[in-house]
Amino acid sequence: MRNRIVILLLTCAFLSFECLAFGQNGQGQNGQGGDSQGQNSQGDQGKPVPGAEVFWAKGQRPARARTNNSSPNLLWFGGNIMPTAQVQAIFWGPNWSSNPGDKITGLDTFYLGIGSSDYANTADEYCDSPSNCVTPTITYSGHFVDLTTAASGSQTSPILNEVCKEITNPVRNGYYPVYVDRPRGSAGYCAWHSAGFCGGVPVQFAFFFNLDGDPGCDPGDGSGLHSEGLAALANVSGHEISEARTDPRLNAWMDRSGSENADKCAWSFGTPLLTFSNSQWKIQGNWSNQAYNDPLRGYRNLNGQKGCIDGGNFK
Ligand SMILES: [Zn+2]
Repeated sequence: MRNRIVILLLTCAFLSFECLAFGQNGQGQNGQGGDSQGQNSQGDQGKPVPGAEVFWAKGQRPARARTNNSSPNLLWFGGNIMPTAQVQAIFWGPNWSSNPGDKITGLDTFYLGIGSSDYANTADEYCDSPSNCVTPTITYSGHFVDLTTAASGSQTSPILNEVCKEITNPVRNGYYPVYVDRPRGSAGYCAWHSAGFCGGVPVQFAFFFNLDGDPGCDPGDGSGLHSEGLAALANVSGHEISEARTDPRLNAWMDRSGSENADKCAWSFGTPLLTFSNSQWKIQGNWSNQAYNDPLRGYRNLNGQKGCIDGGNFK
């Protein structure tokens, strides 16, 4: 343990990380904290979806006690980041057959284009060792459609079970977004991400409601390039994959109050449309410690803190 402390302190010094006490529950280092459902055993009380980090709809985020004058920057909690991501999407529910609109084809385009984009670069500063940082390498291997009735998303385990059912060859850097055909209803969140295991392989996954006609989760993309429901899913998809790369097991990078890089810039946009290799999207930015520390970079989040970058007007 002492050796680990020394190594971590050296790592912190080398990277100028803002290191906090690491290894919560003594399980931080291997990045596989939590139980078989990927639940971070700390702080789940009061979470709307135990074991998941939710993306609150507009105005739904519970008020938090202000942390006096401490830095708003993200801290490393000792868990692994995901340097590259291999994505396979799952569309779950019978309505994906009868009424897919432009959402399946549009999200295929989104995931095929996000890799190596300037938007993907917005997470590159987050590392778990001097030589292991998030990179913009994101590959997409297509989607599955499951027309059985989808789960509600109020628990992580049915979504993880769906991932393990559909993904027969899971990989450690797999990120599996699950899009259900159900509307949000009274849930306060648009989406969430979590982590677990399929047959012993650690996997990262996320859950998304159908956001058609849902003003609480609408980024207000006026481009006319996408349906409103697709534009909304693209924005939340950017949010969740950004967090899955910087905090894949819910024990790596977040601020003192538990907000991850995309949470801190939720519903704050720096650029009308961001450019991918094959498409354009309206996506919120991500928090950058480096931008917050540099008065010439970054734009303000909804709390007025100037630490958001989006790879468009703000890099
Ligand atoms: Zn989030």
